[in-house]
Amino acid sequence: MPRRKYAWEKLSDAQLLQRRLRSLRVAVEGTWLEDCIGTLYEELEERGIRLRPHTWISSEWFSPADVPGIAIPFYLTHPRLMKLEKKMMLDVEGGTWSECMAILRHEAGHAIQHGYQLQRRRRWQQLFGRSSKHYPRYYRPNPASRQYVQHLRLWYAQSHPDEDFAETFAVWLRPRSNWRTRYAGWPALKKLEYVDELMEEIAGKRPLVPTRERVDPLLFLRPTESPRATGFCIYPAAPRAFEAAGCAVDGRESTYA
Ligand SMILES: [Zn+2]
Repeated sequence: MPRRKYAWEKLSDAQLLQRRLRSLRVAVEGTWLEDCIGTLYEELEERGIRLRPHTWISSEWFSPADVPGIAIPFYLTHPRLMKLEKKMMLDVEGGTWSECMAILRHEAGHAIQHGYQLQRRRRWQQLFGRSSKHYPRYYRPNPASRQYVQHLRLWYAQSHPDEDFAETFAVWLRPRSNWRTRYAGWPALKKLEYVDELMEEIAGKRPLVPTRERVDPLLFLRPTESPRATGFCIYPAAPRAFEAAGCAVDGRESTYA
């Protein structure tokens, strides 16, 4: 499909960075992201899951607490914005089909947790921990740990119980992931088997939380405050976020400032 033209395409990087996110008027509709979301929906359909997380454009990848939906970063909607993101962050999170699908499956895990309030279950808490735990500013992952699946970078499952669940869900959902073989003998297999049972249990059921709310932090392209402060899961990213002391949970905060 022909790409929509925007007046801001011709602006310099400096000018573009001054624009309010909302003023870009970008949307999921009419972009390659629609195909990725369509593929995610097909994967959910195949597993009998009824919830179809709604999506919207925001500043980052995240799924807000108690909302069964997924925010997608604005820069993925247009090559001009991806180029700027690459320049500013050295990386474009979710900028390829396979990376976008990997993050979408992870965020879908959060959306399904929120939609069915899975964190309230005793077994969920036994396996993943308490969802109410504060997000750490840094975490020290153990790369050799077999207690956690490995899906996104930086051993992200180790950062928080919600991330552990989202990563486990993403591994479970990915077609041909062969998780029973891949994780045979790992303690993390228990978590995958639980997700398998849990998804069978909620198959065909309506979500408990049906809201279609879109949480939009309305940031400039040069954010001064991270939405992380409000407790959302945001997949961290830039290689520079990986520090000797551990992994920064929010890689963006200081890099735009
Ligand atoms: Zn997450």
